[in-house]
Amino acid sequence: MATMFEAWQDVLRRIDEAVVSIQRPRDSVRLLAVSKTFPAEAVRTLYGHGQRAFGENYVQEFAAKRAALADLDEIEWHFIGPLQSNKTRSVAEGADWVHAVDRQKIAERLSAQRPDTLGELNVCIQVNVSGEVSKSGVAPDEVVTLANAIAALPRLKLRGLMCIPEPTDDTRKLSTQFALLRKLQQQLNDEGYRIDTLSMGMSADLEVAIAEGATLVRIGTAIFGRRTTPH
Ligand SMILES: *Cc1c(COP(=O)(O)O)cnc(C)c1O
Repeated sequence: MATMFEAWQDVLRRIDEAVVSIQRPRDSVRLLAVSKTFPAEAVRTLYGHGQRAFGENYVQEFAAKRAALADLDEIEWHFIGPLQSNKTRSVAEGADWVHAVDRQKIAERLSAQRPDTLGELNVCIQVNVSGEVSKSGVAPDEVVTLANAIAALPRLKLRGLMCIPEPTDDTRKLSTQFALLRKLQQQLNDEGYRIDTLSMGMSADLEVAIAEGATLVRIGTAIFGRRTTPH
């Protein structure tokens, strides 16, 4: 069994190779380590190796881990799970980024609850790029409307778009769905936005996502191992 350090190094190498193979600059893709279901101590260990950005999906687990790791000054917390409107507060108060904003109401609450003492909360709009009915995220043709709503909120900073493609091994299908997110980014930027983040790519498909323009990949299993805790 590889150690967590080795697994993390392997992921960094995969990112590096993917970036180099399409001649993008080496620092153009960030690694978000998705630590959901793994203990705070695993996060602490990886932080010790130099990883700074961590992603969590569940509000209670996020709040508990953040409290346990409050001494890590440089840690950057990304909330990547779906958010219910009655559970936004601890995310607004504790996260640096929120990736799965797909409703105006959630955005409004996050902005209202973001403490003045902290900087603006960085947010990404989650887009349903696969068209699966069960998937969260706004439809591609609703992105501009939500972006306009977010831009009007004082405590949020619209940084990016995020997607979870349909689960498939079909690389062409994945490419098409990732490419759609990039196209939407271009559309927004043509309208004057400055969207610099494409949050796409997970353990199984990070190379495909990087080839289509990902700037941040969200990696859990390939670093921490398989998740056994049911959620
Ligand atoms: C769990 C999760 C990930 C990590 O997925 P892996 O396949 O374990 O790398 C990425 N993004 C989101 C939104 C997740 O919920």
